[in-house]
Amino acid sequence: SAAEAGLYTASDQVVLLSPENVESVLINSTAAVFAEFYASWCGHCIAFSPIYTSLARDIKEWKPAVDLAAVDCAAEENRKVCTAYGIRAYPTIKFFHAYSKADSTGQAFKVSTHDVRVLRHKIIDKLDNHEEPWPPACPPLEPTSQAEIDSFFETNNVQHLALIFEDTKSYIGREVTLDLLQFENVAVRRVLSTEEGLVTKLGVTEFPSCYLYSPEGNFTRLQVNIEARTFYSYALQRLPGVARSGKPRPVTTDVLINNPQEPWKPFNRSRVYMADLESTLHYSLRVELAAHTVIKGEALTSLKKYISVLAKYFPGRPVVMNLLESLNSRLQTGDEISYKAFRETLDNTAQSPDTALPEGVRWVGCQGSQPHFRRYPCGVWTLFHVLTVQAKNARGTDPREVLSAMRSYVHSFFGCRACAEHFEIMASESLAEVNTLSSAVLWLWSRHNRVNNRLAGALSEDPNFRKIQWPSPEMCPACHSVKENGEHRWSQEQVFPFLMSYFSSSTILTDYLE
Ligand code: FAD
Repeated sequence: SAAEAGLYTASDQVVLLSPENVESVLINSTAAVFAEFYASWCGHCIAFSPIYTSLARDIKEWKPAVDLAAVDCAAEENRKVCTAYGIRAYPTIKFFHAYSKADSTGQAFKVSTHDVRVLRHKIIDKLDNHEEPWPPACPPLEPTSQAEIDSFFETNNVQHLALIFEDTKSYIGREVTLDLLQFENVAVRRVLSTEEGLVTKLGVTEFPSCYLYSPEGNFTRLQVNIEARTFYSYALQRLPGVARSGKPRPVTTDVLINNPQEPWKPFNRSRVYMADLESTLHYSLRVELAAHTVIKGEALTSLKKYISVLAKYFPGRPVVMNLLESLNSRLQTGDEISYKAFRETLDNTAQSPDTALPEGVRWVGCQGSQPHFRRYPCGVWTLFHVLTVQAKNARGTDPREVLSAMRSYVHSFFGCRACAEHFEIMASESLAEVNTLSSAVLWLWSRHNRVNNRLAGALSEDPNFRKIQWPSPEMCPACHSVKENGEHRWSQEQVFPFLMSYFSSSTILTDYLE
């Protein structure tokens, strides 16, 4: 379809415009919208598309107030749309303020930079100068005053007020305000360094810095590794009582139960459990594959690659490794296999008692606070992170061996078909660039974070296990740093050893195994 031929896909945080939805997205919307009109053949558009995609990921939390959209004017079916909006050159970005009228063709928004940070600031400028009616979801962005703060809790029913002290030119206060837009029980205001009363009262000497003001009248400094946007937003989203609007509150683990026969298993959130890995194998081999009566062709190739990397790199107990080895040799011959025959090898424990994959699932690190949360997909990610790390340790010869096995397993068998499609898009975009075993470990980590970004706040998010850009600053302080301009930067030279140790066979816990 045209959407697939264009420069953006359904897995980007960009609304794809078409003749069917263009009016409902741009006209009379409660959010302000930036729309990019591009032609998929235009070189500048191609060069700009990764910038626009990362901008969309970067301001994902701002969606109720401001959204990004795009339309491919090179697609025949969109020609009328692009003509109606007066588009003659590509790319053209237009700004549609909230509640734009049906005859509006938007305001020109000049893109003279490929710097995501500068674009984000220009978006804030547009919001700052937004005419009435103001997008209802957008919080106030102007600086606050002593008077507003004095009476703040009389008119606002929140537990925390975060005050970001900053210079006039700084955008951090407004960025954090918008980053917290979808969270309740917290409000954010910027205080200018020129607001002498407050600056003196709190003894503020560092700009930016962030202080929490409580309804009891106390001020406390927000503790962060680095005084920068991402660190403030992350810390504020995790304050006690703060939760995503409209989402259930996290519950304490002592009231969590898997089912009446199966009590909640206490676990360490920063460790990997063998019980999850074995449960994932059980579910994958005994449930997911069982949907295929006969496995042949592309599916058989996928299965062979999957079992082969498991036999090579799964850091399992000897009985499990023996079983994986016998499955691997069973698959060496024949150009098709029935699931029944596969299953016979899998369950053939009577003949060889030292060869077995335990039956059933015992989720531990992948337990969810509700039966429909986490579990198997959590296990699949964990399994493949472990395998990329084991392949690196075992000095595998093909840098893409594990990821390519994962790609084809997900493509042929993973029951979540939307997940499989999204994963295939990411793999076809950049898997070919992976050319060392270390970059395979990092590729899976960064793509998993991309999925986390897309799913943060989605219905499938367990309120007790929120989708974060992982590892958090608490788990790995050294993994996070900032560039000279204050933008967040992952220190990959720190992330890599962190992953190697986190997923290494020697740190996997064996609690709760049968
Ligand atoms: P998961 O994301 O499953 O992560 C499991 C554990 O891995 C976390 O608890 C954490 O300890 C660790 N972790 C988190 N991030 C990283 C990282 N970046 N690197 C290394 N370790 C990390 N769901 C959808 O709704 N839509 C989709 O398109 C979609 N695509 C998917 C594609 C694949 C290939 C897979 C395996 C799953 C997909 N899912 C998708 C499911 C979704 O990603 C989660 O697995 C599911 O929602 C359960 O989330 P979770 O909280 O257990 O954490």
